[in-house]
Amino acid sequence: MRAHPQIAIDGRAGVGKSTIGEGLARRLGFLYVDTGAFYRALTHAALARALSPDDAPALIALARALDIRIIPPTVDDGRQYTVLLDSRDITRALRTPAVEAAVSRVSRHDPVRTALIERIRQLAGAQSVVMVGRDIGAIVLPGADLKVFLKTSIAARAQRRHADLVAAYGDRAPALATVHDEIERRDAIDAPHTFIAPDAVTIDNTDLEAADVIAQIIRLLRERGWEAPQ
Ligand code: C5P
Repeated sequence: MRAHPQIAIDGRAGVGKSTIGEGLARRLGFLYVDTGAFYRALTHAALARALSPDDAPALIALARALDIRIIPPTVDDGRQYTVLLDSRDITRALRTPAVEAAVSRVSRHDPVRTALIERIRQLAGAQSVVMVGRDIGAIVLPGADLKVFLKTSIAARAQRRHADLVAAYGDRAPALATVHDEIERRDAIDAPHTFIAPDAVTIDNTDLEAADVIAQIIRLLRERGWEAPQ
């Protein structure tokens, strides 16, 4: 294993990638990169310009022109990072229902992905990184030292996402059945860009806490000869 390991964590919507990825990165002192934030930032910018999520040429031009930066949190509101779009803080806008509904449609155009992947790779550079997404182990960082594919039953994913929405929106949160259907819809659109790399370790965390998964990943790193801190 190299001096600066790269860890790829992939999985579908709502499997706990960001909780596990961020917790793991903090524990190891690695840079945490949530690639979904790039797709969400582009979607937010496209909606703000009234572009259609189906207008691939306009989206490609936008993806190339935008200045998307991810920096450590600048506000203490529970965020994992701050996203700057042309120097404006758009972090909270990335989780709105409008972005949520359009992001998979924006992300399904291959040339749009190519433009974003180039930027994401540059960000990872040559440092120790935990990167989460759908295609990290297979496409973005094919040489990653450890690749994990997270799996969770659809019922558990819907329940967790619903609980988050109730915490955020109270009575205005959508019903569990609606959240369930929305996750299925996202899965179907994301499927062509979601990969289990041939050398990935699959972890089913339906009945596991995030801390257990993090401990399991650290064990895997140690088995591969990396000296993880206690
Ligand atoms: O992970 P998150 O839910 O934030 O991702 C939002 C959307 O961005 C996904 O549903 C998917 O359409 C897209 N995405 C992607 N490839 C990635 C990360 C995210 O296509 N590596």
